[in-house]
Amino acid sequence: MKQGKLIIFSAPSGAGKTTIVKHLLKKFPSLCFSISATTRESRGDEVNEKDYYFISKEDFLHRVARQEFVEFEEVYNGTFYGTLRSEIERIWNDDKHVIFDIDVEGGLRLKRKYEQDALAIFVQPPSLEVLKERLSGRGTDSQEKLQERFIKAEKELGYADKFDVILKNFDLETACAEAEKLVGDFIKR
Ligand code: 5GP
Repeated sequence: MKQGKLIIFSAPSGAGKTTIVKHLLKKFPSLCFSISATTRESRGDEVNEKDYYFISKEDFLHRVARQEFVEFEEVYNGTFYGTLRSEIERIWNDDKHVIFDIDVEGGLRLKRKYEQDALAIFVQPPSLEVLKERLSGRGTDSQEKLQERFIKAEKELGYADKFDVILKNFDLETACAEAEKLVGDFIKR
């Protein structure tokens, strides 16, 4: 099997990492998005096998038992997310580098596993207040789900300095330009 690199974008949900990752995918044809498996329901216009592999909890736990995940997390109570080994292999075999949009603990786990082949970037929102506004503005989650996301976000902000780089997302255009530079330099190495 061939081995490419791993570019990990982690942040609390709502920090803007998905937008930055989508921007990079347009800029760099040598990158491919790692489609995670999840047990949550699809939201809005999300597409199965493009945004996520939406699978049942039973299927997810079978895959855990068969050690099919390089990392997985019960990100929210009862809701699992994970990166399948087969997903990374698929992308490397296609001669591409893998780019991840993943929670903070999952991101750090991948960094520990792949070390210098991985670049772990923490996307920092302007403040917890802004993050809360963005999450509420989506209008896709119940109050209970939102509270859970707020609590997790607050905890995750404390992990920033464990990453290779902290990318401030105070202004989206600036953040995208900085991300381009970081990723461009890393895949050239
Ligand atoms: P959402 O439900 O908003 O799509 O994602 C919730 C959180 O789970 C986000 O922080 C997202 O980055 C993270 N996430 C998505 N895929 C994975 C994965 O494969 N592993 C882990 N650990 N987290 C993931």
